Amino acid sequence: MHQTLYRKYRPQTFSEVCGQDRITSVLRRQIADETYTHAYLFAGTRGTGKTSCAKIFAKAVNCEHPVDGEPCNECETCKAITEGRLLDVLEIDAASHNGVDDIRDLCEKVDFLPTQCKKRVYIIDEVHMLSPSAFNALLKTLEEPPAHVLFILATTEPGKVLETVRSRCQIFSFSRIETEEITKRVLYVAEQEGIKLPESGARLIARLSDGGMRDALSRLEKCVGYPDELTDSALEYIFELGSQELITSFAVSAARGDQAACFTLLDDLYRDLGNLKEVLQQILGAFRDMLLYAAKVPFETHAGRTDTLQARLKAQAETMSEGEILYQIGVLQDALMQFDRLSVNKKILAELAIVKLCYPDPSKGTLALEARVAALERRIASLSGGFSSSPEDPDPTPAEAGKKAPSADVPSKPKVAAPKQGKPEAKPAARTQADGETFESAINDALSKSDPSRRALYRILKFRRAGHVLHVYGPPYSIAMFTPRKDAFLAEAQKLDPELNAVELISGEAPANANGGSDTDLDSF
Ligand SMILES: [Zn+2]
Repeated sequence: MHQTLYRKYRPQTFSEVCGQDRITSVLRRQIADETYTHAYLFAGTRGTGKTSCAKIFAKAVNCEHPVDGEPCNECETCKAITEGRLLDVLEIDAASHNGVDDIRDLCEKVDFLPTQCKKRVYIIDEVHMLSPSAFNALLKTLEEPPAHVLFILATTEPGKVLETVRSRCQIFSFSRIETEEITKRVLYVAEQEGIKLPESGARLIARLSDGGMRDALSRLEKCVGYPDELTDSALEYIFELGSQELITSFAVSAARGDQAACFTLLDDLYRDLGNLKEVLQQILGAFRDMLLYAAKVPFETHAGRTDTLQARLKAQAETMSEGEILYQIGVLQDALMQFDRLSVNKKILAELAIVKLCYPDPSKGTLALEARVAALERRIASLSGGFSSSPEDPDPTPAEAGKKAPSADVPSKPKVAAPKQGKPEAKPAARTQADGETFESAINDALSKSDPSRRALYRILKFRRAGHVLHVYGPPYSIAMFTPRKDAFLAEAQKLDPELNAVELISGEAPANANGGSDTDLDSF
């Protein structure tokens, strides 16, 4: 039978439990000294080791050859408990057995001596789910339990457990497990299972799991059977993190003043997340990361962003001042406040925010002025082609160079449609890099429109023109998913460039772009 990774790698001794050293050392000492009590409450978020510790506890007190408070895991009793076949160790899920009858039933049997071991152990999971009358039935037993009985209650919500119950238990609070601890464990399990997961991927899984080991191993489980190295883009795909790529692109585009790209990305994000407030909050989170990068403060990065995406935010932040970023954070905060206060169309509020992000109004205070000046400086630098006042700009895209500088007055009307709507009359002979980008974006756009359910997939693909052939690069799974649509895709591509006569699908990284073509890196949106 298939065993989940979480079960397979469940700790069997206290020393194997991750990230709860403070608790496990106390429990071990109590067991070794036989000073343990008859009732415990293990509280903490899911997947932090509460049930694992309860089972280890049950083994350690019943083990025939315990070693320094640890179960031996070899004697018949240990094995029977591990395999869940020792009738004297009962695991009850209060989420499904929460009635008074279930508990009364349990309490009636409490007086019987255990048949196969020293202590009968009741592990009641999610104990806060018990009904009030069930709690009261339990309370009587907890008050005066027979010496051969041990209760271990576990809960994710200690606040919902009756005070009278809590006061009869020794309470241990299980904390969220550190990202580093989870990363190490995930890497170890991946290695054991032959999953090709780089450290950055393990860290992403750890961050996504928010301190819960069970979550982390369930996520890792989704990677089982993936034959190749799990790159950032593969993980984005597997964990459906596509929206974080859009969020990152939006933040970078807004920081660069690329209004057209922002409008397109806003539409995409709205479709993906379905809630504009959530969209703005997430964008705010990306700007927060940029601010901390600009301030050179170490911080815990966003859970869902891969290292690749974080690197893009960092690179952008390094070209900006803290004041500039603070101005943009202010714009987003204002917009979010208006979301709750005003009953106008939320889309309009979001669009107004984009205009303010991209064209700081100097009359709105010194931060806006600073942001405006910095934006203009960057613009001048890119127009003068290399004579740059901010030479550290790591990625002055050609698209930027071709963009119109913002006019001195407040812009009257945002360009709603992105310029990338493909123009078939684009002359292939006069292709410039910017033209290449327009073409690539147009292809991506056309694909996304013709098959919206696979938009996330198309974003992962990179396109390179080689004469009349269009090379499509991507990770093996995306190439495989793309294959059945190859002909339809060629037809779409030919609408944009009639000279193309073939499409070649290639698993792997796209080569660096030396000849003016461009990939569909989202910056080009
Ligand atoms: Zn044992």
